[in-house]
Amino acid sequence: MPARAAKFLSFYQPYLGLLAADLFCAVIVSAITLILPLCVRHITGALLAPGAADPRAELALMAGIMLALVAAHALCNLFIDYQGHMMGALMERDMRRELFAHLQKQSFSFFDDAKTGSLMSRITNDLFALSELYHHGPEDLLIGLVKFGGVFFITLSINPTLSLLVVLFLPLMFLYALHYNRKMHRALLLSKERVAEINAQIEDSLAGIRVVQSFANEPLEQAKFDAANARFVASRRLEYRAEALFYGGMEAFTQLMTIVVVVFGALAILGAALDLSDLITFLLYVGIMIEPIRRLLNFARWFQEGITGFQRFMDMMELPPAVQEPPDALTPARVQGELELQRVSFGYKEEFGTVFRDLSLRIGKGEVVALVGASGSGKTTLSSLIPRFYDVYGGRICLDGRDIRTLSLAALRRSIGTVEQDVYLFASTVADNIRYGKPDACEREVIAAAARANAHEFIMALPQGYATPIGQRGIKLSAGQRQRLSIARVFLKDPPVILLDEATSALDSESERAVQQSLERLMQNRTTLVIAHRLSTIRNADRIVVLSEQGICEQGSHEELLADGGRYAHLYALQQNP
Ligand code: ADP
Ligand code: MG
Repeated sequence: MPARAAKFLSFYQPYLGLLAADLFCAVIVSAITLILPLCVRHITGALLAPGAADPRAELALMAGIMLALVAAHALCNLFIDYQGHMMGALMERDMRRELFAHLQKQSFSFFDDAKTGSLMSRITNDLFALSELYHHGPEDLLIGLVKFGGVFFITLSINPTLSLLVVLFLPLMFLYALHYNRKMHRALLLSKERVAEINAQIEDSLAGIRVVQSFANEPLEQAKFDAANARFVASRRLEYRAEALFYGGMEAFTQLMTIVVVVFGALAILGAALDLSDLITFLLYVGIMIEPIRRLLNFARWFQEGITGFQRFMDMMELPPAVQEPPDALTPARVQGELELQRVSFGYKEEFGTVFRDLSLRIGKGEVVALVGASGSGKTTLSSLIPRFYDVYGGRICLDGRDIRTLSLAALRRSIGTVEQDVYLFASTVADNIRYGKPDACEREVIAAAARANAHEFIMALPQGYATPIGQRGIKLSAGQRQRLSIARVFLKDPPVILLDEATSALDSESERAVQQSLERLMQNRTTLVIAHRLSTIRNADRIVVLSEQGICEQGSHEELLADGGRYAHLYALQQNP
């Protein structure tokens, strides 16, 4: 996996200076921690030795040195905690940016299968674990090794026997720590999962609160929530038990080491193999010993968690978007809007089979073609092939005689406007939502587009007019009002090709009339494919195409198809007198 390793390291690239400074500070911090006990040793040993000269002057000097060391230590620690963490955050930002850009490029087929919640947790949690590794990893490793090695060599030089005695403890301590650290880590992962579960539960219940309340099913939701909440407590119990055993055990080991050092040190002093100042120094080093062990364990944990996060990040980044434009993609200066499907075959996935095979259809510039057919016959599918939300797997679709796969995606999609039954509006103001069709539109253009979409009047009646916030997904508007906003959006975009998919199907007849009127205005001089469930709304289409399981089975004007007495005539008769 050398490519991935290179990619992993590449995120350090812009911050190499910061990383070097961070590591430099880490070394300074470790060194100072190691030097301070040596100062104590000098004071308690050489300066206070019986028979030595008046130590006051040198004591003052030592105090000065130690103060300077402590100040440097504090400053370096400050840098590590502040700038080091910032480096992690900046790297996290870079990765997040890359991931989000990549997600935006994925095609509809990707989002058909993806769960928004888990994508979000990738963008947030996974990358956070990774940024912790990026920042703490090198630092913990370095501090851990320097301090550990330092303590070992310094104590060895003071008194080898005592030092080896302490070292004997380490494997035991390490095994203990590793065991509980692993338990703690596993419990932590579990409780994270449980928190995600609760979040999903809350999201689902609150998003569906209207359904919950209308069925008076609050107790049911409460029970589901309580169950998830109880599982959360159980996982926290595991986590805290392991944590208590880990930290408590480490503490006990340190105290045990202290006792051993004191007792054996005292024996050594009796045997004149050690003096008091050495014993004090030794005790100070025993206190320091626990920290590098904790650092190294931390490193092991960040590494594990961060690498898993990185693997998942790369799995996503290495997934090529299903729909891509060629490197030499064309951006035509003007699009006339002539559409032609040539022997198009398509299916969503192999296991679902084909939706249509060898389907051919031409829609001239400015022509209005209506597509009718039973539910599930593939009308929506056909219209989503034209902006390349999915790619055909046989035949081709041409815009102005050019295969749409040779065009840049932005150019293709700029020349197509869609109005669907389900309108997606963003949780901002009316004006912002209309302006989505042309982000640099001035206020006059926005109002003109709203007027043509029969939306100006109702917008002016809203409490803050165009500045009214419309709530999530436009919840504060009626279905007909939402639909007219989505039409205003397309007016502003002003594309030569229009796709209307059951745009009025969910509306009552009153708002249907207002929407229908604005749609007819929208269709003028534009190539239009209109899919309608209510046949009365498409009588005026230039041509009506009937889609069946076998593909296109009839086409012609309303009158011609009625006269033929085929499938369309049958459907029409059904809708007239149900
Ligand atoms: P219509 O709009 O005519 O009612 P659709 O184009 O929505 O029909 O659906 C045509 C067929 O494709 C149906 O069998 C449907 O189950 C299937 N289908 C639609 N969307 C998807 C999708 N995203 N993934 C897999 N199959 C789909
Ligand atoms: Mg449909």
